[in-house]
Amino acid sequence: MRTPPTCRVARLTSLPSDAPAPRTAASRKSALFACGGVGATLLALIALGHDGHRIAQLAVLAAPMVLWLAWPIRSARMRSVRTVLVWLWAMGFALDAAVRAYLLDTYQAAPDGAMVLGAAANTNARESSEYLWMHWRSAVIWSGALAVAGVLVGMFARRGAAFDAGTSSVRARSSLRVRSLVLALLLIVCVAYASKPWRRLHPAIFWAGWSQSVHTLRGAWADQEKVRDRLMAQAKAIGPVALQAGPSTVVLVITDSINRDNMALYGYGRPTTPRLLAHKAQAGEQMAVLKNAWSVDASTLPALRNMFHFGLPHPENGENPPHLLALARAAGYKVWWISNHDDLAIEQQHARLADVVDMVNRTPGRASASLDGEILDCVQEAFADTSSDRKLIVVHLMGAHPHYSLRFPENANPFDDDVDAVENGLVKDGRSAWVRRFRQEYDAALLYHDFVVSELLQQTRSAGKPGEDRAWMYLSDHGQEVGHGSDRAGHSPSTASGYRIPTVIWRNREPLPSAAAQQQPFRADWTGWALMDLLRIRWSGQMPERNVLSDTYRWQAPTIPVAVESFSR
Ligand SMILES: [Zn+2]
Repeated sequence: MRTPPTCRVARLTSLPSDAPAPRTAASRKSALFACGGVGATLLALIALGHDGHRIAQLAVLAAPMVLWLAWPIRSARMRSVRTVLVWLWAMGFALDAAVRAYLLDTYQAAPDGAMVLGAAANTNARESSEYLWMHWRSAVIWSGALAVAGVLVGMFARRGAAFDAGTSSVRARSSLRVRSLVLALLLIVCVAYASKPWRRLHPAIFWAGWSQSVHTLRGAWADQEKVRDRLMAQAKAIGPVALQAGPSTVVLVITDSINRDNMALYGYGRPTTPRLLAHKAQAGEQMAVLKNAWSVDASTLPALRNMFHFGLPHPENGENPPHLLALARAAGYKVWWISNHDDLAIEQQHARLADVVDMVNRTPGRASASLDGEILDCVQEAFADTSSDRKLIVVHLMGAHPHYSLRFPENANPFDDDVDAVENGLVKDGRSAWVRRFRQEYDAALLYHDFVVSELLQQTRSAGKPGEDRAWMYLSDHGQEVGHGSDRAGHSPSTASGYRIPTVIWRNREPLPSAAAQQQPFRADWTGWALMDLLRIRWSGQMPERNVLSDTYRWQAPTIPVAVESFSR
């Protein structure tokens, strides 16, 4: 067996040239054993708690202390110190991995997800002990795994390289290749520690930041809860009135990163929305596809804030404009928030205003792979609820949020098979191969999205009591650039594609605006005005000229950071 180059060179570079003669293979083997043993134990645990390229990142971050074991040390005392330090270092990584593996296994959650952070911020000593009592089996299993890792790491770390006879000639034997390999490895370690996103994964830094987040969250919550209380009080003071006497169910579907230019419903060349087209053919006049819909924000947080606050300005240090969910509740609606997102800010600013909050996806950020279809059961439960005659069900989907390949089931991409007109068009526009591949994945995400959105519409259309008012509104928070206007893919504040969204409204009773009216542009920050119409709520702040469903609707172009030739196409 060959000594791994990393151990060998770490050892070489440390040797004084006058070192005595080699004790040779035995000591080298021991150092290899130490490096390999500690490294392998750590890697096994890291792989349990992390996935994909994160495993490699963590391994690189953990590497320096493991390599230290290959560095010969003369004094026995220093060697003991090293053993202890390496053990502590390795157990830090092991503990981090075990906690993550536990959370992933039990909740499909990451420690910095809204649910875990929220739970940690909310909990007290009594709750923690109750929790441990309830979950002692998992606690025992993971403690056991940690204990085994502790013993193994201790055993191996003790065998770290010692100074002894014979290390001297090694320098001569070390080949240039090995040295450059180690240099490369050390360089990677340096890069890893220099890069903030990598460094942040280091257990010490991550958990220090984590506890800071919990602390900050506790502080912010007190405020957010007060803000929500104020919004509720404000809504009650406004005194909105629900006009219809009978039952009413309104569904608002907010999706993420959907560009209407990629929907066959809007004339796209690939068949990305067969189900919505079928709905359209069936529903006829009850369904309005707003041809020229625009968001005025290119990212989620401001987009949602505008949607729910009627696009009204938030004066600094002043009172917030009214919140749509608060108004709906004040008018007697029971409000659901069913989300496939896991976003603390959205949860605190909007979702928690609802009576029922269901966050289906527990893993935050890009690694979250929970498909939107998982929310369908929750929505069905909301429909089945009999505790209220008036329901507003808000559904927040991931839509086609990057990475696109995570937004549809495996092997469900029909657009990567052959060259079609869309592909040819992209080639003609000089789009690079990776953007064209992203476009295929994006379109596959839209096809799956079509299934979820159509199911939601189907649920709305088929649910309900006779004589019930039912309405359904669907729109995206913002658009997405996937080679439309530039050779890029992603959120795009700087191109029109970042703002081109779909908006569809279905309503079972009152007719929707005429086809001509539907050609008028629509802006997403005015969603609230239309939604209040769908809810049939009358209130003092009404502005019919901003309600796309009203006869007196009058389009006004928004100010967005992009020059738009025409909002009417
Ligand atoms: Zn978004």
